[in-house]
Amino acid sequence: MKSVTDLGDLRGRRVLVRCDLNVPLDGDTITDDGRIRASVPTVNQLREAGAKVIILAHLGRPKGKVNSEFSLAPAARRLSELLDAEVTLADDVVGESARATVDALDDGQVAMLENVRFEPGEESKDDAERSELADKYAALGEVFVSNGFGVVHRKQASVYDLASKLPSAAGGLVEAEVEVLRKLTSDAARPYVVVLGGAKVSDKLNVIANLIRTADTLVIGGGMVFTFLAAQGHEVGTSLLESDQIDAVKGYLDEAASGGKQIILPTDIVVAPEFKADAPATVVGADEMPADQMGLDIGPESSERFAAVIEKAHTVFWNGPMGVAEMEAFAKGTRAVAEALTKVDGLSVVGGGDSAAAVRDLGFADEDFGHISTGGGASLEYLEGKDLPGLSVLAD
Ligand code: ADP
Ligand code: MG
Repeated sequence: MKSVTDLGDLRGRRVLVRCDLNVPLDGDTITDDGRIRASVPTVNQLREAGAKVIILAHLGRPKGKVNSEFSLAPAARRLSELLDAEVTLADDVVGESARATVDALDDGQVAMLENVRFEPGEESKDDAERSELADKYAALGEVFVSNGFGVVHRKQASVYDLASKLPSAAGGLVEAEVEVLRKLTSDAARPYVVVLGGAKVSDKLNVIANLIRTADTLVIGGGMVFTFLAAQGHEVGTSLLESDQIDAVKGYLDEAASGGKQIILPTDIVVAPEFKADAPATVVGADEMPADQMGLDIGPESSERFAAVIEKAHTVFWNGPMGVAEMEAFAKGTRAVAEALTKVDGLSVVGGGDSAAAVRDLGFADEDFGHISTGGGASLEYLEGKDLPGLSVLAD
């Protein structure tokens, strides 16, 4: 992979930079600006090199239609504050406004195109349609820097196709993320513990097959735990459950047992009658969940056990909250796991948008961890051993 410094003299050159500025919003307010902060060093590096910086990014899922609800305006404002420099946001992605905005740039100045997902070509499955849009992006710049780590697992016009149209390099954020993941897959200090939780159950279950081979211990909480408990024959009430994955999960449990690996599941669960912040919560054994209640967090005994396992590890990768961490009553398991990660003597990595937001929300600092990844899906696919189109296109 080429670095920005391999692109030669960038003074006066129009540099397109794909960033991941897909931050959680509450109305117009950004509730976690981690991804914007993570984008700053590379943008500053390009400004200092005298480039005309043109940022491409997405926000949410506008599904190929212009929708002001998904405007990048809040992200442009926040980036401008962090850079302490103006960031001019075009009114469109590749139209007249984009061209005029780019034309007006001086050396070292920064512009942003509107949400690339306003264009139907961005996420199209049709290669020709994506390529056509990528040509329009390419016409706005002269070189391309891929810095949106959270999207490198996507075969999308501004991630994949554009990289083959212009001289391209990986930005510093992508390089740093890949370096951490490379350590996890090739020279993790043992014991290596992977903690999985969150809500994207079927996505994450696929990773387990690979992780059972590479990690020593898998610790499982969050929504996916109920598919495991169901596989062991337990009642899981109205909890999140992927019934069609139960057989696969049984296979993982068998494989772990025969391979000398440990899969640690919670022994107690915080249940409530409904998915509500003030629902009356009780702690029950993981093998005695009531049929009319749902599991919304791991219980205190499990938190203690998970923490003990994590603290003894020398490498930890954690993706996915242990419970509904957005609600105070169901955040204790997530807090216990986060706390344990801060005590690891070795490399501790937090991955996933909601996990990163949760640890910051719970009052932890980024520096408390070895690395907070900006990409959930991208990290998991890398750990799964999959080919990430946005990285392989930069390979040569
Ligand atoms: P990440 O973004 O870190 O990869 P996910 O998107 O997979 O994580 O999952 C985060 C979401 O999972 C949070 O919104 C949290 O409320 C939810 N969650 C965690 N545990 C449960 C549970 N037991 N039941 C329902 N939702 C859960
Ligand atoms: Mg998420």
